Amino acid sequence: SRRNVLITGCSSGIGLALAVKMAKDEERRFKVYATMRNLAKKEPLEEAVGRRLGKTLEIKQLDVCDEQSIKTCVNSIPDRRIDVLVSNAGMGLIGPIECQTIDEMKTVMDTNFFGLVRLLKEILPDMKKRKSGHIVIISSVMGIQGILFNDVYAASKFAVEGFCESLAIQALKFKLQLSLIEPGPVITEFERKVFEDGMKMDLSAADKETAEMFTNIYLKNYKQIFQSLGQSAEDVAEHTIKVILAENPPFRHQTNTLYTPMTTLKYADPNGDLPIDIFYKMVFHHDKIFSASLNFIKLLRWRSRKSFDLGKPSQ
Ligand code: NAD
Repeated sequence: SRRNVLITGCSSGIGLALAVKMAKDEERRFKVYATMRNLAKKEPLEEAVGRRLGKTLEIKQLDVCDEQSIKTCVNSIPDRRIDVLVSNAGMGLIGPIECQTIDEMKTVMDTNFFGLVRLLKEILPDMKKRKSGHIVIISSVMGIQGILFNDVYAASKFAVEGFCESLAIQALKFKLQLSLIEPGPVITEFERKVFEDGMKMDLSAADKETAEMFTNIYLKNYKQIFQSLGQSAEDVAEHTIKVILAENPPFRHQTNTLYTPMTTLKYADPNGDLPIDIFYKMVFHHDKIFSASLNFIKLLRWRSRKSFDLGKPSQ
């Protein structure tokens, strides 16, 4: 039977790509409620979904920072029935913390972490009652491992991961599924916005060394990292649909096999020094390490062709 899917943040990027792919499913397995904070931005989604609009996809207003808008949106869905919730809305923030205000940081936490909490406060009780439902969260590899100058963003995704690890145990008792999707770099509006904000950032509050590190190392390599490792939003959407259709959906799923070795370092050393050392070398001695890691990536690319398999999707 057709599953009701509610997705947040569908005006661009991963949310838009996922909404469109699910609405265009050949077997028509989904009814998509594609939500966005600002309905004035619905045109790209409307255009991409074409004649399926109003049939397998409806567009609704939902701001994850506004409890009332979540309530109104959920109440407008027949029987309030949401079989799959995709918590995707999110925002980034880069730069030295000396140059960010507490209010800016709070907005990131409020969107990325409390946004998920607000959704679940409204939707989880119904899922528990029905003893069915799948909660899918677009987290990040930065939910497992921090990266230079992404301190607050990584903290917001760590918050999401800790919250979900805790909730997953309870969810199991109610036969609910919980899945964290962990993309590496994805080429979307997100990446463009974050980079532009970084370029515009007033660095006067930081010391010279920190400011130079941010401009001459981080921002300088930013585009190249996205170009060499970046995935498309469609690719991440494809992975997410596989997780949604899997017979036994995994709790964690990384979408980028090129990134997996980095997160594995975390579990390889209980002292936690190994990933920090490697990141340090990559950032500050990247000339030598960089060519070695490129060779490594080539090897992984060859291996990953064979290894990616989430098992048979359920019907
Ligand atoms: P994006 O900027 O294209 O999409 C994010 C969407 O969230 C936007 O449409 C934005 O309007 C929406 N949004 C922001 N605040 C909102 C609010 N209060 N209420 C409702 N919607 C709101 O970027 P994206 O890359 O598609 O990001 C989607 C998710 O993927 C985010 O959670 C992000 O953290 C995560 N992610 C992105 C990357 C990347 O490199 N782009 C990597 C890993 C994870």
